[in-house]
Amino acid sequence: MMNMDFVRKLPVPKDIKEQFPLSESSKAIKAEKDKEIAKVFTGESDKFILVIGPCSADREDAVMDYIERLARVQEKVKDRLILIPRIYTNKPRTTGQGYKGMVHQPDPTKNEDMLEGIIAIRKLHTRALAETGLVCADEMLYPENHRYLSDLLSYVAIGARSVEDQQHRLTASGLMIPVGMKNPTGGDYSVMLNSIVAAQSKHTFLYRGWEVHSKGNPLTHAILRGYVDKHGISHPNYHYEDLITLYEMYAEKGLANMAVIVDSNHCNSGKKYLEQIRICNEVLHAMRHSDDINKFVKGFMIESYIEDGAQKIGGGVYGKSITDPCLGWEKSEKLILSIADQLSR
Ligand code: PEP
Ligand code: MN
Repeated sequence: MMNMDFVRKLPVPKDIKEQFPLSESSKAIKAEKDKEIAKVFTGESDKFILVIGPCSADREDAVMDYIERLARVQEKVKDRLILIPRIYTNKPRTTGQGYKGMVHQPDPTKNEDMLEGIIAIRKLHTRALAETGLVCADEMLYPENHRYLSDLLSYVAIGARSVEDQQHRLTASGLMIPVGMKNPTGGDYSVMLNSIVAAQSKHTFLYRGWEVHSKGNPLTHAILRGYVDKHGISHPNYHYEDLITLYEMYAEKGLANMAVIVDSNHCNSGKKYLEQIRICNEVLHAMRHSDDINKFVKGFMIESYIEDGAQKIGGGVYGKSITDPCLGWEKSEKLILSIADQLSR
């Protein structure tokens, strides 16, 4: 016996995709961009990736406004940078309490509604691609839900709390887009690297009621996000020594397309969001110092929105994060331009 109510059967991804389809031009843009992004991970392109945007996509109007701003900056830096907006619609929570993202609550001040949530996240991702031409990222928090967005997403991250989970790893092995495996909250590199081994391999498993065969995903790579120790204190792992240690451990595994994205917020900044600027600059310095590190670091993940900082749910400030504190727009724009300037690629 289970202690839960089965409220209603939800439409399967195929039905939702038919109801809310992508235009032919969006499909073509995505196919083109996906190739361009893959080349960064395979080393054929020396462009640098910024997965950048709010911690959580809390409201459609502000997120669209933010991505339109990014699209204008993308034009200026297109020779060096690929901007992949974060549209994070499902949020892992440390204690399971609190706002779990747009997929649960299309309006964070109202009740949970999973059908409205699925439609809201599909609509937002579809608009972002159609109206800005930028292809976007989300966290794959619920592997079974990935197919509601699988024709829209160009990058997914597996979060620090999910990276040791088999279903996440096996699902990642069946995707064709880059999947970033975060280091776990405790910081163990081997957990992250094992996750990449798993996702780069072929598997037979159970997915949405099907027996499936995955082909292995060679674009799976690492994301460093800092970690907490046994006392609950945050520590960074973006320094030169951390990158070298990861590089050496990674090389021993014999994996395809060695790559790391450095997440400048979370435990790397200790959520002091303004530190993201310095952290990106320090990593750029490490890249200039070592050719191996220069090739290894493929991009940054930056938490950025329209307003600096964060507010409580219902705070009502347009474009201000209701989860982790973010870098505001002006500072973010400056940081993007400065990263582009500093890249000697
Ligand atoms: C995030 O990217 O907002 C996030 C929740 O990251 P992590 O899994 O590293 O905590
Ligand atoms: Mn966050």
